[in-house]
Formats: sequence, structure tokens, C-alpha cells
Amino acid sequence: MKNGVVIVGAGHAGVQAAAGLREDGYDGPVILVGDENELPYHKPPLSKTFIKDQEAKPQPLRGEAFYTGSTIDYRPGIRIDRIDAGRRLELSGGGVLPFDRLILATGSRPRILPLPGSELSGVVSLRSLADARLIRALSAQSEDVVIVGGGFIGLEIAATLKAAGREVTVVEAVDRLLGRAVAPVIARHVRQRLEATGVRILTGTMIARLEGENGHVSAAITTSGERLPAQMVIVGIGVVPNVELAQAAGITIANGIRVDQQMRTSVPEILAIGDAASYRHWLTGGDVRLESVQNATDQARLAARTIVGHADAFAAVPWFWSDIGDMKLQMVGLISGGDSHVVLGDVNENKFSIYHYAGNRLLGIESVNRPGDHMLGRKMLGAGFSPTLQTVATGPDGLKAALAAFQKEEPVRAAE
Ligand code: ADP
Repeated sequence: MKNGVVIVGAGHAGVQAAAGLREDGYDGPVILVGDENELPYHKPPLSKTFIKDQEAKPQPLRGEAFYTGSTIDYRPGIRIDRIDAGRRLELSGGGVLPFDRLILATGSRPRILPLPGSELSGVVSLRSLADARLIRALSAQSEDVVIVGGGFIGLEIAATLKAAGREVTVVEAVDRLLGRAVAPVIARHVRQRLEATGVRILTGTMIARLEGENGHVSAAITTSGERLPAQMVIVGIGVVPNVELAQAAGITIANGIRVDQQMRTSVPEILAIGDAASYRHWLTGGDVRLESVQNATDQARLAARTIVGHADAFAAVPWFWSDIGDMKLQMVGLISGGDSHVVLGDVNENKFSIYHYAGNRLLGIESVNRPGDHMLGRKMLGAGFSPTLQTVATGPDGLKAALAAFQKEEPVRAAE
């Protein structure tokens, strides 16, 4: 393969795909193209330490030596306009880049809020390092911040900016927080704790318009007519997958770039991974598109394996985390469709886990400051082990023993 592998997108997925190819012994050219002018960096800190601490530096995913030492040809600041039928990428501004295999790791972009006033300066969303730098700079000049959207991004930023001394109001359209991702018990807990720190949270509320002075935002007016002063408005209302390149090339799209269990799109020499890829999940049989670092990196590893000729199917256990103030939220498995749950630990102590079941099958575990349950959950779901409710009630030690006994009985499954 003389043109080698081109990877479009230098986020968590793209960089891991490049690394995976070399780890798996691929010795052709690997070209990693990104549209930002940065050394690829970790995204999770951007909504936390990076915006709080004016001195914080971006954390590179890999040191500079990775791109020379392992001969990854990283090309920053490049946008791809089109994938042509002759296995070539057309670069914005001219030039072409031929490939033998293409990995689309194009990620997602923030959904925009089409409101009167959303073009004012000071109205921002968070996705890239450049966005985080802007939020950090605006934060230094803002007393009042309005955050639109009570999902993970919105609430992480709310906790961070509150801790940095800003007046923070979260405006969430539906009647609860974190509706897309977590159980109501967790959402209520997060709300209570954030409110206790002084974050104001308005649910069932939308913004009708934004007001400005001299081109800069000065207030957000809610649909109920309340005027919320704001020198910065952060919009965190979800993301849309970047599927346009694939779509224009005739690749099948279904809530994301559709891939099979080896990460191949409907065009076999083109693979897709990460936030932009949708697929049938082995754990639930449902179609998903997951936005997490774990999903991105595990799919990247698998895409590399597919390219070097392995045929294993995607079977990673999905997990996710979020740090909201003094709450480390960790989720493992996919909990939608659950019909019962059991709680371990103490909600009042800010340390508890919820084990979710469908019938007697463990679907997943959500934890707040109980990393042990989360790690155990990753092992149990990976082994295909569903403890009974009685075993869960015996706590981590009982669960560990039961898992070990199960793995002795089912060594083949457990070794997978
Ligand atoms: P993110 O990754 O950006 O946090 P989520 O989907 O987890 O995305 O959360 C986005 C939140 O924004 C959801 O709770 C959703 O109900 C809320 N939301 C969506 N549109 C609006 C809107 N116009 N105004 C306020 N909240 C909104």
C-alpha cells in the first residue's frame, strides 16, 4: 500500500488510530490530518482545570517525538473539502492527498442556538482548545455567566466557573438535568449539590433572546421573561456529528457515519471512528453513536487492527466519566431499557452507585465517587457476568468473589 493510511481528524480517535497502526506493525505511510493548528491535546480538561487556571497548559495526547519517532506524518491546519472517487482527498486551498485506506475521525461540533443575539461576542460554545482559551479569557472579564444546556458540558463548566467565583445560572430546556445520559436519582443529586454551592439552575426554561451592548452580550432573557445579566453565555446543548465529508462521498449515514463491527463504512476502504461513527452495539443490540474518549480510543484501536488484517469485532465495554465539582461521575454499560435498579452506598455522603438491570441482566452501573464499583462494573460487563441483587447487596467484596467464581466456571468467555 504505497499511499498508506490517511486519518482525517486529530482528536483522541485519530491520534490513537495512528498509534494503533504502528503498534500493530503497519509499516506504510500514516498521515494524520487535523484542521486545528495545535499539537493534538486531551479534551476532558478543557471544561475543568484549563478554564479555571489562567496558567494551565494544554495537555498533549502524545509528545512531539511521537509524530517523528513513530513516523506519523502529522499535518495540522488542513481542511479536507472532498473525498473523490479515485481514493484521493481534495484539500481546501488546493492540493490532493491520495490514500489506500482512509479513517474518518471527524468528530462532532457543538449544536448552535439559533436565537436573536447569538451572533454577539461573548456567546460561545466549548469544543476545541481555541474555544477553551476564549472562555478562559472571557471568564476573567465576566461576573455573570449564563450556561444554556444542563448536560455534562454545561454542568462541568458551571461547577468550574462557580468555584472560580462567578455568578452562574444554568438554563435547561427540559424539566431535569442530564436527561440524555444518567438516571434521575443522579441528576437530582447533582442538582442539589450544585445549588448548594450557589449555582442557580432553571429547568423547563429556554432563552428567548440575548441582549448586548456595543456588540457584546449583556443579558439573556428567558422565555418566562426573566432578564439574566451575563457577560458570557456558554451554549452546551449537545453536538452534531461531522458526517458531511462522508455523506458527499455517498457513504451511508444513519445518525452518524454508519460502520460495521470492524469500523468499515459502506465503502470498504474507508473506516470511521469516534463521535462521528454510528453502529449496532454488541451489548444491547441497539444502534448508537457514543461521544466518549473510551469509545473513540477503543474504536481507533480496532480500526487499526482491521487495516492490518485482523477480523475481530468491536466488543469494548462502554464507559464514561464526568467531573462536576466534587462529584466524580462514572458510567459503565448502557442503561437505557432498564426496569429496576439497586443503590449501594450513601447518597447523603456523596458516595453511591446505582446498578441498573433489565430483568436479571446487569445493564450498567452509574457511580458518584465510588470508583471501585465502576472498575468492578467494567470487569463484570466485560466477562458477561450479571450478579444477582442479593450478591450486589453484599458489596464490592462479595461481588469480587462472585465474579472470580464465575470466571472459573466460564474461562473461555472470561478470556475474550
Ligand atoms: P453536551 O455534551 O453538550 O453536554 P447533552 O446532550 O449531554 O450535550 O446535553 C445538552 C442539554 O441541553 C440537554 O440537557 C438538553 O435538554 C439541553 N438543551 C437542548 N436544547 C436546549 C435549549 N434550546 N435551551 C436549553 N437547553 C437545551
